[in-house]
Amino acid sequence: MARYTGPVCRLCRRERMKLFLKGDRCFKEKCAIERRAYPPGQHGTRRGRRAQGYGIQLREKQKVKRIYGVLERQFRLYFKQADRKKGITGENLLVILERRLDNVVYSLGFAASRAQARQLTRHGHITINGKKVTIPSYQVRADEVVSVREASRTNAFIRASVETARGRGVPEWLELDPENFTGKVLRLPTREEIKLPIQEQLIVELYSR
Ligand code: SF4
Repeated sequence: MARYTGPVCRLCRRERMKLFLKGDRCFKEKCAIERRAYPPGQHGTRRGRRAQGYGIQLREKQKVKRIYGVLERQFRLYFKQADRKKGITGENLLVILERRLDNVVYSLGFAASRAQARQLTRHGHITINGKKVTIPSYQVRADEVVSVREASRTNAFIRASVETARGRGVPEWLELDPENFTGKVLRLPTREEIKLPIQEQLIVELYSR
């Protein structure tokens, strides 16, 4: 599956907010948003017109895609899936994104960022109910147990991430056992438990045009 390989901090600057795409660095002074909180490019420092209507909706969609590391084609498929489900489309969309295995690995603190979680998954370090799963877009289900493979638990990188994540906290729909590098999906997330600053209604409006 394709992924974005360009400069990462540029994405935050474009959205004018921290999207926390680089792990530890995002909490330090080196963060590009701390140093240059204006959009990238030649005209970044110019005072442009405030985005309206379509512009606001587009930026919201781009922001969510960038937070979860999903490209347009897959995002659209997620939207169609969310639209077909019962309930509120925008909320369904966020729940689908939250249930991605790479997001769960990040939320449990096994990786410092979603991009790193995606790489760990791809490289076979993650198991679900004891079986290796290498698909970052895998949708976790209630009662599944997500773990770092036993042979990978000595990996300094993973150990450091778990330590850092202890302070970050774990969402209420997940349960972490840090000693055993294991997390359980207690249930599917609700909208209230997704704390990201997202106005999903704008995305629904954009795709309904
Ligand atoms: Fe975004 Fe992190 Fe880069 Fe800061 S360091 S601009 S939060 S990716």
